[in-house]
Amino acid sequence: LGRYRHLNAFVNVANPESVLARVATAAGPSPTDNVDPRSPNGRLVAIKDNICTTDIPTTAASGILKDFQSPLDATVVRNLREAGAIAVGKTNMDEFGMGSHTTHSHFGATKSQVDGTDRSAGGSSGGSAVAVATGQCWAALGTDTGGSVRLPAAYTGTVGFKPSYGLLSRWGVIAYANSLDTVGILGNDVDSVEGVFDITNVHDHQDPTSLDPTTRSCLPIEAPPPSRTLKVGVPMDYNISTLDPVVRKAWLRSLQLLQKRGHTLHKVRLPATQHALSAYYVLAPAEASSNLAKYDGVRYGSRAEGKDGTPESVLFAKTRGEGFGPEVQRRILLGAFSLSAQAIDNYFIQAQKARRVVQQDFDKVFATLNRLNSSEYGNKTEGVDVLLCPTAPTLAPRLSEIQDQKPLHAYMNDVFTVPASLAGLPAISVPIRVDQAPNSENAEATGMQIIGQYGDDKLVLAVARELL
Ligand code: GLN
Repeated sequence: LGRYRHLNAFVNVANPESVLARVATAAGPSPTDNVDPRSPNGRLVAIKDNICTTDIPTTAASGILKDFQSPLDATVVRNLREAGAIAVGKTNMDEFGMGSHTTHSHFGATKSQVDGTDRSAGGSSGGSAVAVATGQCWAALGTDTGGSVRLPAAYTGTVGFKPSYGLLSRWGVIAYANSLDTVGILGNDVDSVEGVFDITNVHDHQDPTSLDPTTRSCLPIEAPPPSRTLKVGVPMDYNISTLDPVVRKAWLRSLQLLQKRGHTLHKVRLPATQHALSAYYVLAPAEASSNLAKYDGVRYGSRAEGKDGTPESVLFAKTRGEGFGPEVQRRILLGAFSLSAQAIDNYFIQAQKARRVVQQDFDKVFATLNRLNSSEYGNKTEGVDVLLCPTAPTLAPRLSEIQDQKPLHAYMNDVFTVPASLAGLPAISVPIRVDQAPNSENAEATGMQIIGQYGDDKLVLAVARELL
């Protein structure tokens, strides 16, 4: 980790002696006994710092939780430890998951240096992405509320997977926006990501939003055989005028590759996409303002200095003013406003309606019926199996470029990732190399996103494998 300390990918690391002892006692990975590229046994896994661990503090990169030590492991961490994985450290992030560049952290920004220049690592799981990209771990856990695993993957040239909502337990994961929060996985290839997914994709009775065993049993367990011809949807609404030509070229190249492998391409329309970003930035802060109300320095979080007898309201305000960074404060204000009596009809309710329309758009184009909304399971005669589109409209920006940008600018990075989040669909970002002129200042890779119908996680992973 020392060699990469300047990248600031980790907030805290595990005790090196205990990590070494675990590596020594694990059954693998000696070249002979751990040949399974999907097995986490004996392998190092980094954990985003909003996922609770008993042996390392959990801060969510916030001043308000800077001293928090969880007495329990999150279910996903327990799943991984039971499978032999070694938690190597807690990764840097945007405070409480709010951001797109991992610059809004109490512990300073994470840097990505894929091509020698300091670039945005994406956010909010930027620390996990950089830890994976630099080989400091085999795989990493992140969280994805509106793109926080996929965007960092696209910006760092790694694979980032957001499973269907409700498959991976959120118990022990610090909430940002409950109806959107999903644990996600980052790795350098599809094998490691799928290996972590297989271990963590289990029902958890402690998480009320964990998909119940009966519905789980209706989801496809395996991907279709590689020989099956797939219908790949090309969402024309993602071909926006501000799409970087290099990204558009990589998109075309990926489509051609799938076509060469025998799959067919189909133009589709997802017209509500244009409202998805605004809807997301009303709904996510609304949920966040409610979730973060508990950090008042009395029940939760570090408390600001105050004499005995200081009125509670003064102490709350001081604690929250000191403990939360500016982006989190902005989101709390936004959320509190959109939920207030005078604004709820025009903002929160409208955004909920837009969310429903985004979901319906996806259901219209997929050949498989949505297993959550329809009483019958099966396929329609028309429709596509997966969608292929870019993960982000541009390559990873330089850190110097984003320093003075307005908050709204950062929100725009999420324009292609939030629709799948609003609909709870599985989506993966895979790195596609881009052509560059010699000495070009461009990043080396961009991310292509594969989106599937709810529960088609294995299909999405299989298509990702074909693209890599
Ligand atoms: N960038 C988005 C936001 O700030 C998404 C974050 C996430 O997925 N946690 O809300």
